[in-house]
Parts: sequence; C-alpha cells; structure tokens
Amino acid sequence: MKLSLTILSAALGAASAFAPVGRRHVPSSSALRMANHLEVQTGKAQLDTAVVDRFNSLPYPPDKILAEYVWVDAKGECRSKTRTLPASRGKAVDTLPRWNFDGSSTGQAPGDDSEVILRPCRIFRDPFRPRNDGVDNILVMCDTYTPAGVPLPTNSRAIAAKAFEGREDEEVWFGLEQEFTLFNLDQRTPLGWPKGGFPNRPQGPYYCSAGPENSYGRAITDAMYRACLYAGLDISGTNGEVMPGQQEYQVGPCVGIDAGDQLQMSRYILQRVCEEFQVYCSLHPKPIVDGDWNGAGMHTNVSTKSMREPGGIEVIKKAIYKLGARHQEHIAVYGEGNELRLTGKFETASIDKFSFGVANRGASVRIGRDTEAEGCGYFEDRRPSSNADPYLVTGKIMATIMEDVDAPVIDALNRAEA
Ligand code: ADP
Ligand code: MN
Ligand code: MN
Ligand code: MN
Repeated sequence: MKLSLTILSAALGAASAFAPVGRRHVPSSSALRMANHLEVQTGKAQLDTAVVDRFNSLPYPPDKILAEYVWVDAKGECRSKTRTLPASRGKAVDTLPRWNFDGSSTGQAPGDDSEVILRPCRIFRDPFRPRNDGVDNILVMCDTYTPAGVPLPTNSRAIAAKAFEGREDEEVWFGLEQEFTLFNLDQRTPLGWPKGGFPNRPQGPYYCSAGPENSYGRAITDAMYRACLYAGLDISGTNGEVMPGQQEYQVGPCVGIDAGDQLQMSRYILQRVCEEFQVYCSLHPKPIVDGDWNGAGMHTNVSTKSMREPGGIEVIKKAIYKLGARHQEHIAVYGEGNELRLTGKFETASIDKFSFGVANRGASVRIGRDTEAEGCGYFEDRRPSSNADPYLVTGKIMATIMEDVDAPVIDALNRAEA
C-alpha cells in the first residue's frame, strides 16, 4: 500500500510540474489514466551517471563473462537475455552452450510445449558492459529451433543459410543501408518536429545536414556508431536523411549470411542506445504518410567475386535481369508496409514494375556511376524497406542471382530520367 502511494505521488508530482504556476491543480483520474507511462516513469535513473557509475566501477570476476544471447522474435524484433559463463567458453561460437527461452511469451511456441532452443551463431563484444581487465563480455547472435532441432518457421536465418550453402566460392558481399526514424516517447512526434504538427520547411535542408535547425538526434546515431565499432561490427558509415528526424547507417560489405547477423545485431544495438537516450526508434518504411516526406529503406548493395573483376558489369546486368524476372517474389519478402513507400515518388520506383538504371535513384535497382565507368563493381537493390528481414532479403537475392537461367534483357531507364 505504501509503495503504491509513493508511486502515485511521484506521478502526481511529475504531472503537476506542467501545471500553471500559482494555481492548485488536482489532476482528475482520467488525466492520470491518459498520462503516458513512459513519459511519467522514463527510467531516468538509467541516465543518472553518478548512480550508474557506482555499479559500473565494480570489477567483474576475471574468470567469468556475461553473455547476452540475442534472437529475433516472431515480429522480427530482437529479444535478449543474459547469463554468466566461464570466460574460457566465450571465445568461439562452438564453445558457447545452447540455451533456451519461453517461446509462448514471444509468440514463437505454444504454451504446452514452450521451449525454444537458442543456437549461438556469431559473437560480438558487448559495448554496454565494457570492462578493463582484458576480458570481454559478449553479445551472442542466435537463431531458434524446436527441441527436436527443427528451425522455427520464424527462423529466417536458416532459410537464408540454404541459399549461401556451397556458394562460398562466389564470395558474395552485401552492404546494407539501414534507415530509421527517431521519435519522442509519444511515438508520434519525430525528433525536431512540433507536437501534432509539421516542420515549417519542406524536405531539402535536412539530408546530410548540420545545425540545430536541420539535424536532430545526431548524438544517438554517433553513440550507436561507436557502440557498433566497439562490438566489432563492420559499420561503414552514417548520414542524416531527407526527412527530418530520419537517419541512416551502413553495415558492410559483409560476406554471405554474416550480413544478416551483423545487421540484426546493429538493430539490437540501436534499440539499446535508444533505450539509454529514452528516444523511440521506428523502422517503419513510411512513418509519416501525410505530406511530402521520404520513407525509409534498407537499400541492399550486392556483388559477387566475378562482378568485382574486370568485365563484371556483364555479370551484374545478367543478375539484374534475373531479379526483374522475379520482381513480385522479391517484393513479397522486402518488408511489411513497403507499398506505402514504393510509390514511384520520393526517390523510389513503383512497387508494381521493375526497373533499373545507372545512377538513377528512381529505379528499383541502380548501378553506380563508378561501376559503369570501371566496368565492374556492384549494384544496389533499392526496394527493401527499412523493416525488412535482412536474412530474407540477402538470401532471396542470392537464390535469384545464382539461378542458372538467362532471364529476358531489360532496358535501362534512360539518362534523362536519372
Ligand atoms: P548510397 O550512395 O546509396 O547512399 P551508401 O554509401 O550509403 O550508398 O552505402 C553503400 C554501401 O555499399 C556501403 O555499406 C558499402 O560498404 C557497400 N559496398 C561498397 N562496395 C560494395 C561491393 N563491392 N559490394 C557490396 N557492397 C558494397
Ligand atoms: Mn546511403
Ligand atoms: Mn539513404
Ligand atoms: Mn542507397
């Protein structure tokens, strides 16, 4: 009882901080109900560095590590839990034990047979639990199986792995551009936007911008960038995006299935950083539909060894024709809500029609000017949305471009459209 009274008075205190000065204001019960729990209880203690540092400075036992097991849930979002392990077991994926979780709580297993098995796939350093004794705590990317060893239907990594199996000689590289939108905790107001309204200037000044009137949330992107580098991810860059509050980072080039592992872990790290900053991150492909605002994608840059070698442009074109022949199959795994984004406007191509072009950001697939000039390099599939499953996207591209078929030639969009 005492506890609940304390919480209530804390909530009242927080609410009254916004009440007009000098007027006694008793919040009605409905006002209390409407208060967003996250806004009232922001978990700000996390940001009180003096408190946090007291505990962070406690040394870890040198023979033990903390391992954060991360997996993808039924909605494509990352979940995780921690265990203590002997330090000697944290060096390689095959020395890490398998683990399990309650799949009935993540929509991944029925309640009467709820155990899901986690198999470690990839180890990263844990940027959220650094230590200075020469030993690393770790993040462990896992995939999910039934106790009988069958991959769960939501285990898209297992599906993608099949496309890469036996194709190591191709040395396929992926560079994934992850766009995302930062919101206030109301989940409606992007950073830098007025509550309930729109920025007073249209798109134009925000992309790759600097200055308080243009760039919002840079500290968050920089923090996640550094955390990803610390973790050992191949994060290759970042930039402010066209819509205010929207940003991008790139992961890659990564080889084969590793692109999916790294991208999923980067999303997990982004979520954890946003938790620290108490900012809401959305991967929705069209977070703002009213007005003229760009959507968010996960452009996927691709090359095989032969595409990167002299004359590779011919291999690239053949791959693009194959992608064109399977356009709708690709769209089916390129992310939910993508139809709101792929409208043919705002640097996108229509969702219904496949196209490609050189340096053309209105095409489904783009060949960069350097690649054309050098006669080899890579291509960019601009269709995947920001919330797309990176395992499905890379696996599907791999399966399609490895097919032993000659797909019909597609004419490039002409330069006037570029
Ligand atoms: P954009 O001009 O479309 O915004 P970015 O610079 O954001 O391109 O992203 C390009 C991505 O492509 C980077 O992640 C980069 O590492 C990756 N990349 C570069 N070369 C290759 C290649 N040969 N194969 C695959 N990906 C590549
Ligand atoms: Mn980019
Ligand atoms: Mn971009
Ligand atoms: Mn791009």
